Amino acid sequence: MSYHYHLNRGKTKPIFLSLSNSYHGETIGALSVGDVSLYKETYKPLLINNMQVPVPIDQSIQASLDALKDLEILLKEHSHEISAFIVEPLIQGAGGMHMYHPSYLEGARTLTKQYDVHLIADEIMTGFGRTGKMFACEYADISPDFMTLSKGLTGGYLPLSVVMTTLDVYQAFYCDYNEHKAFLHSHSYTGNPLACAAALATLEIFENSDILGENAKKSAYIYEEIQKFLPLANVKSIRQQGMVTAIELKGYLAEERIGLKIYEYALSQGVLLRPLGHIIYFMPPYIITYEEIDTMIKVAYDGIRRLLEED
Ligand SMILES: *Cc1c(COP(=O)(O)O)cnc(C)c1O
Repeated sequence: MSYHYHLNRGKTKPIFLSLSNSYHGETIGALSVGDVSLYKETYKPLLINNMQVPVPIDQSIQASLDALKDLEILLKEHSHEISAFIVEPLIQGAGGMHMYHPSYLEGARTLTKQYDVHLIADEIMTGFGRTGKMFACEYADISPDFMTLSKGLTGGYLPLSVVMTTLDVYQAFYCDYNEHKAFLHSHSYTGNPLACAAALATLEIFENSDILGENAKKSAYIYEEIQKFLPLANVKSIRQQGMVTAIELKGYLAEERIGLKIYEYALSQGVLLRPLGHIIYFMPPYIITYEEIDTMIKVAYDGIRRLLEED
């Protein structure tokens, strides 16, 4: 849609820009802008041409300033051929729950506007309260040109996704039949009524109860509780953004599959953890109770501590 928008305006911009360590899904276009080699390597010859800039290395403001410099250098040289810059706002999920500061989004919005490149916020994971606000973009007070949504939209119960855009983009496609500017892109199950009903029910819960307020208390509680992980010799750091909390381990090789060991131990204790390599993370459903949080944290703690005893 972004490419076609520019084309309708007389510009051919065949390249999409994304962040290092990003994940946007596994269909060809989405895989092309992703940067998790595990998914990407096999299909490399099939992928669409794209470019990447470094993601801020951590949650500090300095890291975001450094990464914005790289973005500006690239846009200066290549913006004439780039349709859009796609990002996972604040948290790169499949890339190990890597987090960065909202000032990066603010800067990226300013630069993309300046260089006539769309900004696509892929809020598939971060949307619907996951980061603490309804949408992660709100932390930077920005409005992207496109927003992709799914996952939390139906509370995770039925498959449904949404692409949102601006009136400006909509109007670039608005035309008489013979002008051939229309956006021809469809799926058999577009607007699936059952999935839409699940989405409406989910949105109603957001409207009628203080989910975000309750989540703020739960995530503060989780953060307090995981401080006890820090003294463990194999824990490198902890980080949190809303209802995503990650514990990064250190001192292991990928071949050791410690993620799998922790996963198997947790499963034997009735807890479903799904580590990403050496990153153990919590992304619980919002209905989790405090008692369940205690169980989740205790099992993760024991799982990590047991690794030390093995050595
Ligand atoms: C899960 C995820 C996707 C992929 O969505 P699919 O429906 O599996 O294609 C895309 N982007 C982000 C940020 C995700 O977390």
